[in-house]
Amino acid sequence: CKASTEDSETSFMKDGLAVHGVSEKILGVLGGGQLGRMLCQAASKMAMKVLVLDPMENCPASSVSYHHMVGSFYDSITVQEFAKRCEVLTVEIEHVDVATLEKLEQQGVDCQPKASTIRIIQDKYLQKEHFSRHGIPLPQFMLIGNLESAKTAGDQFGYPLMIKSKRFAYDGRGNAVAKSEDDLSSAVTALGGYDRGLYAEKWAPFIKELAVIVARGRDNSMLCYPVVETIHKENICHIVKAPAEVPWKIRKLATDVAHKAVSSLEGAGVFAVELFLTKDGQILLNEVAPRPHNSGHHTIESCFTSQFEQHLRAVVGLPLGDPSMKTPAAVMYNILGEDEGESGFYLAHQLIGRALSVPGASVHWYDKPEMRRQRKMGHITIVGPSMSIVEARLNSMLKEEILDCQ
Ligand code: ATP
Ligand code: MG
Ligand code: MG
Repeated sequence: CKASTEDSETSFMKDGLAVHGVSEKILGVLGGGQLGRMLCQAASKMAMKVLVLDPMENCPASSVSYHHMVGSFYDSITVQEFAKRCEVLTVEIEHVDVATLEKLEQQGVDCQPKASTIRIIQDKYLQKEHFSRHGIPLPQFMLIGNLESAKTAGDQFGYPLMIKSKRFAYDGRGNAVAKSEDDLSSAVTALGGYDRGLYAEKWAPFIKELAVIVARGRDNSMLCYPVVETIHKENICHIVKAPAEVPWKIRKLATDVAHKAVSSLEGAGVFAVELFLTKDGQILLNEVAPRPHNSGHHTIESCFTSQFEQHLRAVVGLPLGDPSMKTPAAVMYNILGEDEGESGFYLAHQLIGRALSVPGASVHWYDKPEMRRQRKMGHITIVGPSMSIVEARLNSMLKEEILDCQ
């Protein structure tokens, strides 16, 4: 009798790890930042085992992951070693060693989404070309390699002109605006010069920025989350309002564009589609993230299935969950570093202290070891019976912040 118990126990052992969660698949995540952390938190609810690869010993995901391998997701040997310990590989950041992912895929390693998707997304110019080929509406764009081609872009697209780095961009660090032809050289210098790989984008005169998270399962089933409005400050996501207050027709158009964009990419997971809404009711695609995204943090409290749980379900092959909202309205506020060091921590904790007494508010603190200006340190989601009520709650929380700072 004892022997048979042991037999059944060993059948739940894989590579020495006991597997007893909702899915038996051991999932590896490249990257252990806040997105990795929230993926691990969602996994823990279902007793799924998530291994994280991140170079920082005390990265946000390290304390909540099943196992944290300290190493670079940009180093081929490290990624290959990491892959040996996992049954499915996914990412929380697109700036990973994609050539190694392609090689691993050829050897039969299960990457979700597919390496081909990561390759397209991690180079914004390639991404723009890809979506343009698939008939997705975009701001016009053009490769620039010297002052002459930058001037040609300015002549064709007008000013202000957006100059972007093709690779390694996040939180607007990779964007520079030239207000006129005279500004071109300084904008290019600010981005590290033409050798870094730059392109120019026509200025999108948007009245709102919208985002849609689209989930795709391994069986190719697709579900879209409600359209949200994202409000950026100095190129960094600051506030997200869910659902977006736009007419039904715009919501439908935004969802259709997002669905079409994600349909052109391969693999399972959640994908965030950032969009511009123009005055004349056009929807233009800005960029796609092949992973959970800041515009979807509100889903933890406001939707039946959070974007993090959805990503886990999608990549391991579980059925997708219900993406609809269970609260009428939600607003997400990013806690960005306001100052370096102790003073920054003090300001953030003042805000958190006030959030704790706001009805419907949930605080997420990412436990990043260092405080830096404009760094995403945490977020607060407020849910409630209407957008005007959650906005009023947010404003009261922030008004006191202003008073406190004076
Ligand atoms: P993320 O953190 O979203 O990955 P990123 O560094 O990749 O940011 P983008 O998404 O390209 O940067 O741009 C950041 C913000 O800059 C946009 O959300 C938008 O507010 C503004 N922006 C980008 N492209 C344009 C454009 N063509 N016209 C006008 N504004 C733009
Ligand atoms: Mg980006
Ligand atoms: Mg963006």
